[in-house]
Parts: sequence; C-alpha cells; structure tokens
Amino acid sequence: MKLNSLTDLFQHEIKDLYSAEKQLVKALPKMAKAATNPDLAAGFEEHLAETQEHVNRLEQISKDLGFSLGRHKCKAMEGLIEEGADLIEEDAQENVRDAGLIGAAQRVEHYEIAGYGTARTLAMQLDLKAAADLLGLTLEEEKATDIKLSKLAANTVNVEAAEAGGDNSQE
Ligand code: FE
Ligand code: FE
Repeated sequence: MKLNSLTDLFQHEIKDLYSAEKQLVKALPKMAKAATNPDLAAGFEEHLAETQEHVNRLEQISKDLGFSLGRHKCKAMEGLIEEGADLIEEDAQENVRDAGLIGAAQRVEHYEIAGYGTARTLAMQLDLKAAADLLGLTLEEEKATDIKLSKLAANTVNVEAAEAGGDNSQE
C-alpha cells in the first residue's frame, strides 16, 4: 500500500483498527470465559457488545468515504491477544489469573486509545467531521473501559488475589 498523503494514512489507520477490533470480537468471549470474578466476566461481555459497535462504526466510515477495509492484519493486536491467551493457559490461581487478565485487557485498551486518538486527529485534519465524531465516540468508550478495569483491579480483583497468595503459601 502506498502512503502518499494523509488520506492514505488515515485509511491505513482505519484498516488497522478494523482488523484490531475484529480480532477482539473473537478474543473477548474467551477472556470472559476465563475470568472468575463475575464483575470482570460481565465487564468483558459488556465490552464485547461495545466492540461490535466499534466494528460497525469503522464499516460506516469506510462506506461513507468510499474505501474498502481490505485484508490488512493488525499484528500488534494479534500479539496482545496471544499474550492474553498464553496467560489463560498458565496454571494459575484463579484470582491471580483475573489480575493478569485485567493487565492484558488494559494493554489492549491502551493500544486502541492510541489508534483512535491518531485516527481522530487525522480525520479532523482532513475535515472529515462525521468520521472524527464516530472515532471520538469509540475513543471515549475505550477510555471508560480502561478506567473501569483500573478500578476493578484496585478495589476487588487484586485484593482477592493478594488474599489468595496468603492461602497458597500454606499449601
Ligand atoms: Fe474497541
Ligand atoms: Fe476496547
């Protein structure tokens, strides 16, 4: 793909985000299934519904602007998901696994926040108001998810994991 203009770069960013979101739609149910804490599992399910909407918004943008989303693969998301999958495979105490799942999920959110921030800025630069608004909506949902995960870690999951560590030392 040739990147001769900011428009080319913008379309490239949208394709990358599209691949990232589609991979996440597949990964989030596995993360929900692996989570023990019911609030964490529910959080993953809730973000799955949002993620499906993120996919729809990117499809809307490509349709409105008349470019195809193609078969580009977001390698960064592939790697982040692979790390999460490796963690799920580990022989872990369940509360400790939950704490690790939050870390994996927050890495994903931070990656998305960076991508949507970049894409939104490009859209504004290119005077693509409708696209910038859609990207901004998703950006805010990614940020809100990240904050929810931080709170869940600090208030519940990490606390339970710390208590579980005490139990383990007696085994
Ligand atoms: Fe998303
Ligand atoms: Fe997300």
